[in-house]
Amino acid sequence: MRTDFVIVDLETTGLNPESDQVIQIAMLREMGTQTDTLAFFINPNRSVPAFVRRLTGFDTMDFSQFPTLDEVIEEIRDFIGDRLVVGHQIGFDLAFLKRAGLHIETFLDTLEWARIALPTEPSYRLENLVPEEGPFHDARNDVQATYRLLYRIRTALSHLPETTQRDLRYLLGNEWDWWQVEALPNTRPSPLDQPHGEPSGGRELVPFSHGWQSQTWLKNPTNIGKNFEEFEQRPSQEAMMAAVERAYQDQSILLVEAGTGTGKSLAYLIPAVLVSLKQGERTVIATHTLALQEQLWNKDLPMAQQDLPVNVALVKGRGQYVCLLKADEIRQTTTVLNEDRERRIAIARLLTFIAQTDRGDYDAFNPSSREAKELWQDVMADRHACAGPRCPYAGPCFMRLARRKAEESHVVIVNHALLASHMANPVVLPEFDHVIIDEAHHFADVVERTFGMEFVIADFRRILAENTARNGLFDHLKTHPDLFSPIEYLRAQSITLLERLESLENVFIAETPPSDYNRQAVRVTTERFESWQGTQVEKTMALTREAMANVAQASRDIWSAAEAIFGDVIKNDPTWLRFEKWADDMSSYSLHLDQWGPPTSQQVSWWEATHLDTNPQITLRFGPVDVAPLVHDTLWNQIKTGVLTSATLSVAGDFDYMARSLGIPKERMRTMRLPSPFNVRANSVLAIPSDIPDVNSAEHLKELAEFLIEVVPRINGRTLVLTTSHKSLRVLADKLRPVLDPLGIVTLAQGIDGPSVRLVDQFKQSSRAILLGAAGLWEGVDVPGADLSLVVMARLPFAAPGDPLEEARLERIAQRGQSAFYQRTLPQAILRFQQGFGRLLRTKNDRGAVVVYDPRIIRSRYGAKFIQALAGPTIVVQPTHHVRQVIHDFIVKGGHDVDETPTNFNYE
Ligand code: SF4
Repeated sequence: MRTDFVIVDLETTGLNPESDQVIQIAMLREMGTQTDTLAFFINPNRSVPAFVRRLTGFDTMDFSQFPTLDEVIEEIRDFIGDRLVVGHQIGFDLAFLKRAGLHIETFLDTLEWARIALPTEPSYRLENLVPEEGPFHDARNDVQATYRLLYRIRTALSHLPETTQRDLRYLLGNEWDWWQVEALPNTRPSPLDQPHGEPSGGRELVPFSHGWQSQTWLKNPTNIGKNFEEFEQRPSQEAMMAAVERAYQDQSILLVEAGTGTGKSLAYLIPAVLVSLKQGERTVIATHTLALQEQLWNKDLPMAQQDLPVNVALVKGRGQYVCLLKADEIRQTTTVLNEDRERRIAIARLLTFIAQTDRGDYDAFNPSSREAKELWQDVMADRHACAGPRCPYAGPCFMRLARRKAEESHVVIVNHALLASHMANPVVLPEFDHVIIDEAHHFADVVERTFGMEFVIADFRRILAENTARNGLFDHLKTHPDLFSPIEYLRAQSITLLERLESLENVFIAETPPSDYNRQAVRVTTERFESWQGTQVEKTMALTREAMANVAQASRDIWSAAEAIFGDVIKNDPTWLRFEKWADDMSSYSLHLDQWGPPTSQQVSWWEATHLDTNPQITLRFGPVDVAPLVHDTLWNQIKTGVLTSATLSVAGDFDYMARSLGIPKERMRTMRLPSPFNVRANSVLAIPSDIPDVNSAEHLKELAEFLIEVVPRINGRTLVLTTSHKSLRVLADKLRPVLDPLGIVTLAQGIDGPSVRLVDQFKQSSRAILLGAAGLWEGVDVPGADLSLVVMARLPFAAPGDPLEEARLERIAQRGQSAFYQRTLPQAILRFQQGFGRLLRTKNDRGAVVVYDPRIIRSRYGAKFIQALAGPTIVVQPTHHVRQVIHDFIVKGGHDVDETPTNFNYE
C-alpha cells in the first residue's frame, strides 16, 4: 500500500451539505513510517440538533467558542497538501469541504473497498468493521478507526487467490495498484477456477444410538447451558418439546400455537436432532421468512446439536444462489471499456465474494449498492438457464452443493416455497420422514402459489426478444449447416409468438375494467369466459396458444436434430444446455396456456393488470381453489411426523380452520395451545373507544387522525398504526405529517417513505416516530422495549374484496350451504388481528396499549370473538377522551391501576 495519504473525517449538524454545517474535523496523515494528526472543533454558527449531540457524545459542548470552518480551512488545506484523501464514505465529507472552497480530486473510499474486500460483512458501518475502535462519531476516533480499516482491507485483498487478484487488477486498474497487494501462497482457490463435475453418490443416513431424551438434553448444563449462561428454562418450552417428541413417537401431526417468548425453535429443534439422529431419518424444517431461516441456522441449530454427530444442511430456493457459469461469463466478457466503474466495482465484489464464501447465497452476499443488486439479477441461478448436472461447474456450484449436503443430512432447513416446490415435484429435496413447518399460518398461501401458474407476458416477451436477436441464443446454435434452416424457422415462429403476445396483452388491457388503483385482478368467471366466444379475446387467445405450441414443437425438433448430429457432446455444452432448458420450458408454458381460462371446480384463472397509469402489463394466473387435498396427498400422506407451529394457528383455541385449510387428517391430528409466557394482563391494555364513527363513514379516518394527533405527542411517538389499505395509509400520512413534524415526531409511512424493512429499522433508530403500515406490517414488525408502546388498528383486518381465488373459495363454501363468513372470512381476520396485537409485547418486560379504532368490535355479533382470541389483556371500552387518558397514564406514568371494563359489558 502506498504510504502517503491523509484520512479525513467530519462531524456535521446534519446530512445536507447545502444547508448543514461542520462541527468537527479530524485528519490523520501517513508519510512513510510517520503518522501525525490534526483536529478541530468548529463553530457552525447555528444550534447543534439534540440528536447530533447525542450521537457524537458532545452533549454539553459550547461550539460557539471554536473557530469557524473558514478560519481553519487554510490550515486543513496545508495539512492535506496534494496527498490522496482517504475516508469512510468520503464523498459526504468532500461535499462539505468543497462548499468551504477546498476541492479534492484524488480520494479513496474505504466504504467502497470494504464492500469489495470484505463482501460477506453484514454491515459496512465503521462500528461493525472495526468494533475495537470507538466510541464512534467523534471524528478523532473515526479517523483512527478508518486507519485500522485500511489495513484490514489490504490484508483481506492479500488473502485473495492470485487469479482473483488478477481479475480485480484487470477490472480496477490504477485503483487496484495503489494497494500494492502481494499474493500469499496456499490461498484457497476460487471455485471459478475449479470447474469440475459432480461427485457421485452420497452417504446413507444410518441410525446412531444415543441415550438422550429432549428433556434431559435441554436440562444438561454441559449441553445448552455450557455456552449460553443467559439461557433460561421455560415451562411452555418444555411442554412443547415433550409434545413434539410424542408426535415423533406416535407419528402424528401436531399443531402448536406458541407465542413470542416460548422458545419454540429449540422446542422443535432438539427433538428433531435427537430423533432423526437416533433413527437415521431425515427431518425437513421449513420457515416462511429468510430471517427465521438464518436464525435457526446461525443460532438455534448450533445450540440444539452441540457436539452430536448430526448432519445438518441449509437449502434455499435456486434464485438465492450465485450461478458460477453466469459469473464466469461476466468475468470473461467485462472490460474497462465496456462497463462503467460502478458496475466493475460490483463485479469485483462478486468475484471476491465467490472466492471467500462457503454458501454463495444472496444473504451472505448482502448486496449494498444498486449496482450490486442489479448484478445479482444477472448472476443468480435460475431454472431457465441452469445446465443442471451436466454443467461444467456442477461440482463447485453452491446451489448443487447445498442440495448434495441435504442428501447426507438428518436435519435440513428450507423455506416454505422450497418445501411446496418439492410437493409439486418430489425431486427438489431428498426424501424425508418428518416435517416441521414454522410460521405455518403462511403455508397454505405458498402452496397455492406453487401449484398455480404465473405467466408474466412482459417477461416472456423479453426472453423471446433476447433469444431471437442477432447474436442471441438461437444464433449461437448455428454450429452445423443442417441446423440453419430449423433455427431460422424457430426464430420466425418465435417472432410470431412475440407479436401475438403483444396483441394478447393489448386485448386484456382493453378488457380490464376501469379502476382507481394501479393494479387490478380480474377473474375469469363462467359468464365472462362464455362472453368471449367469437370475440377478439377468444381469437387472440387461440392464435397465441397456436404460436406457443409451434415454438415448443420447433424447439423440441431442434434439440432432437442436434442430438442426432452431435451425440452426447451437446449434453456438456452450456449453450445447448440452456437451449434444452428453453425447449422444456416452452412445452410446459404451452401446456399451462392451454389450461388457462375455463373455470373448473378445482381451478380459478384470472389476469392481473399492473402499472395501469404508466406502462400497463398483464400477468395471466391460475391457482387451485382448495389446497387442502393437495397438501394432504403430497405431504401428509408421504411423511411420518408433522409439526406445525406459529404464534397464531387457532381461533381462540379452535384449530379447525387451520386443519381444514391444510387438509390435515383428523385421525392423526394433535393440538396444543401454550399460554403466553408474558404477563399479558398486567402489561397490556386493549382499549376500544366506544364513541367512534362507522369505519365506512367519511368521518372515520378524520377522527382517527385527530385521535392520533392528540395521543402520539403525549407518548413521544412510539406508535405503530396498522391499516388495511394503502389508500387509508396515505390519507392518514397526509393528515398527520404536517402536525407531527413540527413537534419533532417523524411520520414513516410504508410505501411512501420507503420499503417496510427500511422503515422498521428507521423506526427503531428514531427516538420519536410513528410508523404507518398496511399488509405486511401486521406481522412484520419486531420492536422490543419501549420504542413501541402503542399499536393502533385502524379497522378490523378483514381481507379486502377483489382476490379472485378468495372469491371462488367463498362461493364454494356457500354452495355447500355453509357460511363463508364464519367458515373463512372471520377466522382469517381473527388470526390477522392476533398477529397485529402480537406486535406489542415482544419481551417479558414490554408494556403498552393496543387501540382498536373500529366500532364493529363492540357493536357486531362477531366482535367478541376477536377479544376472546387474545391472551387476556386488560380491556377498556370507554369514550375517546377517557381512552386517551388511560393510554397516557399506562404508558407514560407507568400506571398499573387500569379500570377494566367488565367482560360482560353491554357495549351498546
Ligand atoms: S449447475 Fe446451474 S446454477 Fe450451478 S453453476 Fe451450473 S448453470 Fe449455474
